[in-house]
Amino acid sequence: MKKILSVLPLIALAVFVHAQKLPRVIILATGGTIAGAGASSDRAGYTAGKIPIDQLVGSIPTVKKIAEITGEQVASVGSQDMTVDIWKKLAVRINEIFKNNEADGIVVTHGTDTQEETAYFLDLVVTSEKPVVLTGSMRPATAISADGPKNLYDAITIAIDPKSKGRGVLVSFNEGIYDAREVMKMSSTKTNAFGSPNTGAVDQAYDGTVEYYSKSERQVNPKSPVVITADTKLPRVDIVYMYADAPADEIDLLIGKKVDGIVIAGVGNGNFNKAYMDAVKRAVAAGIIVCRSSRTPSGRVVLHDEINDDELGTIVSDDLTPQKARILLMLGLTKTKDKKQLQNFFFKY
Ligand code: ASP
Repeated sequence: MKKILSVLPLIALAVFVHAQKLPRVIILATGGTIAGAGASSDRAGYTAGKIPIDQLVGSIPTVKKIAEITGEQVASVGSQDMTVDIWKKLAVRINEIFKNNEADGIVVTHGTDTQEETAYFLDLVVTSEKPVVLTGSMRPATAISADGPKNLYDAITIAIDPKSKGRGVLVSFNEGIYDAREVMKMSSTKTNAFGSPNTGAVDQAYDGTVEYYSKSERQVNPKSPVVITADTKLPRVDIVYMYADAPADEIDLLIGKKVDGIVIAGVGNGNFNKAYMDAVKRAVAAGIIVCRSSRTPSGRVVLHDEINDDELGTIVSDDLTPQKARILLMLGLTKTKDKKQLQNFFFKY
């Protein structure tokens, strides 16, 4: 009895120390405007990826009160230069961090131009339920009212909130939280740059609090369909943009290049003209998977509507934008070349 009483203070101390432990967040930095530096505070022009992650975190000192932060520089690029190799690097590191229990949540800082693509790629390949939140900024750190520090602070708030678990990869921007599958860059210059045209935001972050309002029915994680390793070779899938009186030369060029897949950014319900129709027939005959999507920002592309996909040999993107349909097709093609199975991926993810 005496022995038990003597260790009680130690147990109490251990419980106290544990209770004081802050959630651990790893920030994986990739560059973009959030890490950009401009010539002066009244100019939006800047060089991407100039500011290292430690300096970015230093711009929000109060964050130390809510989380234990570590930063890793994965890349330093403007996101127009984002590559499949960087995607793979991010995916492998995120899965490793969670497998080794190195963090409770991850924030990825990223340029805004292709942020929605990276978010959806990660959404499809991350195998943990723990939160992964992407963010960036529209103004460089040197600008008046730079939006990076607040966006980063909000992203960390979301990454440490237990309610963020099991929601797949999220994008946090201008106090809105968006599902990776739905989000799209909607303004090329404004700080309120992101939106989800089909579904709206799933959540709002405000003053360090997070409130969720909806959850995606197409939740992937942690049931990732594809396992990504550093050696995974992703097939080549290109996007061709349709417009009035478009010649089909690009499709023929891609047939010549023996690509694995083509996503057509069609008009309206994934439509295209006669020149495209004939070229698509040639692509399908060459064994290329052709997916009809739409350049229209909201709505979906419906099987066998104005175009008979069974007859033409095409599949449809459902409501994925062309840039996201490309990602799902690339990942799907690592599993199968069967059109039915590939089509099912588009109705499932
Ligand atoms: N071009 C930049 C990028 O995507 C724009 C930004 O970050 O806002 O990296």
